[in-house]
Amino acid sequence: MATKKRVLITGAAGFLGSHLCDRFIKEGFEVIAMDNLITGDLKNIEHLFRLPQFIFYEHDVSNFVHVPGKLGYILHFASPASPIDYLKIPIQTLKVGSLGTHNLLGLAKAKDARILVASTSEVYGDPTVHPQKETYWGNVNPVGPRGVYDEAKRFQEALTMAYHNFHGVETRIVRIFNTYGPRMRLNDGRVLPAFIGQALRGEDLTIFGDGSQTRSFCYVDDLVEGIYRLLLSDYVEPVNIGNPDEITIREFAEEIIKLTNTTQKVVFKPLPKDDPTQRKPDISRAKEILGWTPKIKRAEGLKITYEYFKSLPKEALHKKEHNDFEKYIKR
Ligand code: UDP
Repeated sequence: MATKKRVLITGAAGFLGSHLCDRFIKEGFEVIAMDNLITGDLKNIEHLFRLPQFIFYEHDVSNFVHVPGKLGYILHFASPASPIDYLKIPIQTLKVGSLGTHNLLGLAKAKDARILVASTSEVYGDPTVHPQKETYWGNVNPVGPRGVYDEAKRFQEALTMAYHNFHGVETRIVRIFNTYGPRMRLNDGRVLPAFIGQALRGEDLTIFGDGSQTRSFCYVDDLVEGIYRLLLSDYVEPVNIGNPDEITIREFAEEIIKLTNTTQKVVFKPLPKDDPTQRKPDISRAKEILGWTPKIKRAEGLKITYEYFKSLPKEALHKKEHNDFEKYIKR
């Protein structure tokens, strides 16, 4: 197999990582998948295990990463990504964004591979500029509950640029906005699995705050297309990938109520600390550099995602941990 067609994907058993594995297999790559399975699930990639061009290593990339043979590309997608997850495992979150990124940049340098790192709209914190352009430096509370993720990702970006500028490593940075689709974890605490899980269990939908805060949700296939194009481009500065179709959380709850046909209502809970009041990507850079725009409308993406959650075994829906995330939220 040609070097260029060998890719290492970290966080491969997670939501985004597993979809990336599918895409790179489809594009004819040999995929080396890595995950420590803290938040990832082998079920997301078990359909790939029988393929000779797919190999899985259970490994925590915060420790030294060894991959035998040549590598063309590295995609660093290992990290807890939901606010509840990074409140539960703050130190691992900081380590994988910093030490993990350092190990993978070192690996990219040693293998002469191009590396793309998964950054996030969280680098903008609670943004005072709207919509968010890549040139905005952000408004992050370093010592707040979300600081462990936001600052790890900001450090990741700085380290990535340093490896590019100082060592000449070929680097790419994608800033990912809220993304949804099949293989999200029902218990990850994020708004979409939370609302759909509640509707399926016959519980009321919990809106945090008054629901006037906004998010902009991108379907996973659109995101993967944007990432694929960015990897193959020669653009080094960060690029926002997300869907600018902005909605309030209150309206989003109403959409989920309609979609699931539930007779449940919404209930209001206090807003978590430092919860961003607004978020919407400015995607003019992605449009211009990559010729990319999202194609899948929320109505369509939500339908597919709802079908996925409905198809999960009943036990998954009623596991205790689906309901216990409230105790981790700092308000
Ligand atoms: N949210 C909510 N109810 C829930 C879970 C989340 O109202 O059961 C809100 C949360 O406070 C935030 C938005 O939905 O304003 C999106 O939260 P999520 O955890 O999905 O990710 P974030 O965009 O904050 O990283």
